[in-house]
Amino acid sequence: MAGKPTRQQAEEAVRTLIRWAGDDPDREGLRDTPARVTRAYEEFFAGYEQDPKEILKRTFSEVEGYDEMIVMSDIRFESHCEHHMVPIIGKAHIGYLPDKRVIGISKLARLVDVFAKRLQVQEKMTAQIADALQQTLKPKGVAVVIEAAHQCMTTRGVHKPGVALVTSRMNGAFRDDEKTRREFLAIIGRTSTAHLPNT
Ligand SMILES: [Zn+2]
Repeated sequence: MAGKPTRQQAEEAVRTLIRWAGDDPDREGLRDTPARVTRAYEEFFAGYEQDPKEILKRTFSEVEGYDEMIVMSDIRFESHCEHHMVPIIGKAHIGYLPDKRVIGISKLARLVDVFAKRLQVQEKMTAQIADALQQTLKPKGVAVVIEAAHQCMTTRGVHKPGVALVTSRMNGAFRDDEKTRREFLAIIGRTSTAHLPNT
């Protein structure tokens, strides 16, 4: 990305935030914190360095005649909300109806991480995962449901612990065919999308 700051500038910014919080970045317990936070950011936001198309491209394989739904549920992820930069922790459920090509399920988990490890809005992340699969794998349909707790809702502002936001994106057969959608929702342990916004 253009204008990426140096590590030293990033550490300096953390020092500023510590002072903004009301503490002294030079006291013993905090002395190494700017370096630690900067390293943690490299991990939290590793998704910016990864291309979802690369992950999906390498793993195509021909699967003679297999046309049943493939579902991977409860893919745990940690992300960060782009409004407050605090954690969003949840799980993703992905289903697709293959059209000749499938990918290894571990790649679905990696795909979730590519988008989770960025600053996010849950609705956007749901759509990004579905669209990346649709564009590269070209299946007959893709379904993505994400349920997550937002720490910006549980630790500040409205303080509503335990609230999970559920978002979904249904494409192709999952949108057009009620039976397919029901089958997917039953597998992931939900009975309807009546209350789900189709983002
Ligand atoms: Zn937030």
